[in-house]
Amino acid sequence: MSKKVVIVGAGVAGVNAATKLVDNNFNGEIIIIDMGKNPYDRLPEEVMTGFLGAGGWSDGKLTYHTAIGGHLTKYTGDEKAMELMDQVIENFKRFHPKPDEVQCSNPVAEPEFIKPYFGLRLFPVWHVGTDYLHEIGKNWYDYLVSKGVKFIWETKVEDIDFENQTVHYPQIAEMDSAELPGDLKWMHHETLEYDTLIFGVGKSGIDFGKQLAERYKLPTESKPVQIGVRFEAPQKHFQKLIDVSYDFKLYRKFEDEGVSLRSFCTNNNAAYVAVEETYGDHSYNGHAKKDMSYRNDMTNFGILMEVRGIDNPFTWSRELVSKVQKDSTGLFYSPTRKPSTTSEGDNVSAIKIDDLEIVKEAFQGYYKYIEDFINDMKKVFPTLKDDWGIYIPEVKYLSPEPLVDYDTLALIDYNNVHFVGDALSARGITVSGAQGNYVAEWILQCMEDELSWEDDPDVQAFLENEDKPGPWSEEDDKIYTVGGLTNDKERSFTKFQNKINK
Ligand SMILES: Cc1cc2nc3c(=O)[nH]c(=O)nc-3n(C[C@H](O)[C@H](O)[C@H](O)COP(=O)(O)OP(=O)(O)OC[C@H]3O[C@@H](n4cnc5c(N)ncnc54)[C@H](O)[C@@H]3O)c2cc1C
Repeated sequence: MSKKVVIVGAGVAGVNAATKLVDNNFNGEIIIIDMGKNPYDRLPEEVMTGFLGAGGWSDGKLTYHTAIGGHLTKYTGDEKAMELMDQVIENFKRFHPKPDEVQCSNPVAEPEFIKPYFGLRLFPVWHVGTDYLHEIGKNWYDYLVSKGVKFIWETKVEDIDFENQTVHYPQIAEMDSAELPGDLKWMHHETLEYDTLIFGVGKSGIDFGKQLAERYKLPTESKPVQIGVRFEAPQKHFQKLIDVSYDFKLYRKFEDEGVSLRSFCTNNNAAYVAVEETYGDHSYNGHAKKDMSYRNDMTNFGILMEVRGIDNPFTWSRELVSKVQKDSTGLFYSPTRKPSTTSEGDNVSAIKIDDLEIVKEAFQGYYKYIEDFINDMKKVFPTLKDDWGIYIPEVKYLSPEPLVDYDTLALIDYNNVHFVGDALSARGITVSGAQGNYVAEWILQCMEDELSWEDDPDVQAFLENEDKPGPWSEEDDKIYTVGGLTNDKERSFTKFQNKINK
């Protein structure tokens, strides 16, 4: 069943899956197709595609906790999740040119001054070093090639037929003919059959995943709404916490109301609010420049609210976002401050509002959670007072997550199609890789089950003897066996049957 494994996407998830398979002597064929390039040819600006996908050109921070980086424990339980994540980290070390330099940063305990008001999520992170990712990619790729894994590069899969187990992609064919002035090239469509498919297209393949989900009417998991604001203030107010954790994560949960809040993606030192445009509306995010000539001593982070139990969360979020726009521009509110500038010195595009009426109305009662969050931050960071501003909205449109069998990550209706990584429910390198490993374990288990049936000594003995004649003389041997079943050598039963019929 699992003999020919086709992996769509040479990202972190797909590559870890392939590695686990070859490490464990998988006896089938493995083909990986990616629209990007191999690690030798991949250019620095090709951030999302190519060997190791977005993870290959990332910040190289491997988060090491089940509460971060997307869903893993819900499929595997805590213990197994940690084991699978360990394997991913081991792989990064194994192909690292200087494995000793891979260090784990150890979080300290939650500081006392935070405790009365917020939880502070602190988790270990393994630092691979961005500068080493390219070398890791090359070493890792060479290993897989040496183990017989086939790669098809710069090829975008356009369609997958789950019913007929085929993957479809265009390819350029060439004919070098001496009679023609130039090489003759044309596009044709390739079809690749699979026994098992691993679908790991990451964020860059999000639309492709959606397209397949719609076509095959794949059942999906219900998703919470993720919406809030981007908060900005001078860094000095938060320095005490930044000293403990650069990318601090304050959180709180209101279990009974189905609401939780967290600070998201903190930027410091040279921190700028960035405008995002989705579906024609503005929303906000933030980024930090590495070059210290851009230092502005500001801090920004999202205050993101997760709301469960809202019917059609996507439509709900989109309607909310469109209500907090003026002339297709997002809003800015502050008791004292003006909107900031971008790193290029331009004003961050936002319409300043003097009160929060329109925002409160759009958030339909949920804004009070953000208001409380800010008020409590004022207590924890006493110098903050009214020296802050918010850009409205910040939103995460979560793509519908296909419903999979939790033991195999395979689609409910197609048990040989496994979704992994960001294409499923991951949001980071470690979890994506771990999901790849989890699926590989399942494929290896299937291989073992198939093998163990054939290797069973009783089955072997039966197969060897099944067509041999019995231990009696040839004359007495009125029966003989075919495929282990007795047959009527002289056809006397057939003669008898014909007589009865007459
Ligand atoms: C700039 C940046 C920095 C990041 N930094 C970190 C970090 O420090 N730590 C962390 O944990 N996470 C980080 N992430 C997130 C992390 O990289 C991803 O969560 C992870 O790579 C997801 O792995 P994946 O295998 O699911 O997908 P990806 O690694 O994104 O790989 C998907 C692959 O599929 C291919 N593909 C897509 N569609 C098709 C198609 N139709 N046909 C053929 N191929 C296709 C793409 O070319 C790509 O190579 C970062 C992401 C970005 C963009």
